[in-house]
Amino acid sequence: MGEFMEREYHARPLLGFEIEEDAAQRQTVTSPYDRRQPVGSVQWATKAQAERAVDVAWQAFPAWSETPVETRATILERLADLMETHLAELMTLCSREGGKLLTDGVDEIREAVDFCRYYAARARELFAEPTQLPGPTGESNELMMNGKGVFAAISPWNFPVAIFTGQLVAAAVAGNTVLAKPAEQTSLVAHRVIELLHEAGMPREVVQLLPGDGPTVGSVLSSDPRITGVVFTGSTDTAQIINRSLAARDNAALPTLIAETGGLNAMIVDSTALPEQVVADVVHSAFQSAGQRCSALRVLYLQEDIAERVIDILRGAMAELRIGDPRDLGTDVGPVIDEEARQGLLAHVEKMKAEDRLLAASELDPAQTEHGTFVAPMAFAIDGIDTLDEEQFGPLLHIARYRSDQLDAVIDTINARGYGLTFGVHSRNESFTRHVASRIRVGNVYVNRDIIGAVVGVQPFGGQGFSGTGPKAGGPHYLLRFATEKTRTINT
Ligand code: ADP
Repeated sequence: MGEFMEREYHARPLLGFEIEEDAAQRQTVTSPYDRRQPVGSVQWATKAQAERAVDVAWQAFPAWSETPVETRATILERLADLMETHLAELMTLCSREGGKLLTDGVDEIREAVDFCRYYAARARELFAEPTQLPGPTGESNELMMNGKGVFAAISPWNFPVAIFTGQLVAAAVAGNTVLAKPAEQTSLVAHRVIELLHEAGMPREVVQLLPGDGPTVGSVLSSDPRITGVVFTGSTDTAQIINRSLAARDNAALPTLIAETGGLNAMIVDSTALPEQVVADVVHSAFQSAGQRCSALRVLYLQEDIAERVIDILRGAMAELRIGDPRDLGTDVGPVIDEEARQGLLAHVEKMKAEDRLLAASELDPAQTEHGTFVAPMAFAIDGIDTLDEEQFGPLLHIARYRSDQLDAVIDTINARGYGLTFGVHSRNESFTRHVASRIRVGNVYVNRDIIGAVVGVQPFGGQGFSGTGPKAGGPHYLLRFATEKTRTINT
């Protein structure tokens, strides 16, 4: 693994046409855990290159959509094999470029591999043969699934391999051509994935990589009338900008928007729960990946009889968290992605402290953290989810207390707040967990365990309301979002 710790990476747009080196578009990439350490550089795509890439994708669509599904699926499986072969390199790069713990990096690559294999298998079932539908005598009715056209895949930095790869391979295996726009902060690992995808046999004009800044590249991808669909993961605000831009296009067919966005994820703990288990699951749910997961726990509701006990144990557990270099296997919490994110989180910390809400905090060791963008995990007392303005995308937890007779009011407040991604419940009372899990309106509910993203690739993950458009990543139905149905009725 040592060789990947030192190597400098240089990324650029990977397009279906040649481009010149352009020093003016080159950005330096440094590590979030030590901003003095270079990781490499990336040449961002220009607006003109993005526009030409759309031309190429548009022209490549008919041939790709008629390419047998077996060929398309096999490319995904080859990519999965290549990612496994290059696991050490990819996880190291996730760590150096994005500040991920090495162990999180392994999970991340495994998830991407899972998506590739699962979507390949599912595509063979859905796209290989027309489905015969029943019909009147003398007629044969067939249902076929085809790609829709050109998809833009716009992805975030927090799962720079799993989400990035999952989005674009789903679009491509369903028969669409794809313009992949990785997040600014994680272009290097995205570039490496697309190199592997091309090595796996994906034609260069079918999946093109457009590293670059969101407003420049992203706005081409959401305003060109030839874009048939956008698959997006990121903030609710950006999803709304993309939605408006797609809708404002003249002379464009109605688009598909598949969006996974933020969450103000809550967990409700009743008095029968086991406090030690609750704390272990809360620490994992709130602070793993430095809280930079859309699924992370943001608001913990504790029934008042158990609250003091849980908070006491939580204080002890948070005091033991080791914050530092993500490449060190002893580290529990790495840095947040960049200085802008750190400043935003620290502003929230100041506000909470000024209101005297701090309940528990982990310690930062200055020697370990002075050159990086670190934020200490903290927990704050709040009255309820409705007092929070927005999601804080970092290791900051909020704790509210409730009385048993307030339970339904708490759930209704969480529902009314409008986010609907993940939710946890801890209780040994089965009718309590069943009631809470049924009344809450979210995409993924976790009972007596930590809140994480998809448990496995075959399980759909995603939310409703401000958290997304509903169609979920993973799961048996995801590929259908990228496809269009066509029937053939034959007079026999
Ligand atoms: P975050 O706040 O987590 O960085 P964003 O929503 O800003 O989330 O970013 C998610 C992705 O959306 C990134 O790839 C980013 O470059 C892209 N993006 C940002 N602004 C726009 C935009 N105006 N149009 C399209 N994509 C955008």
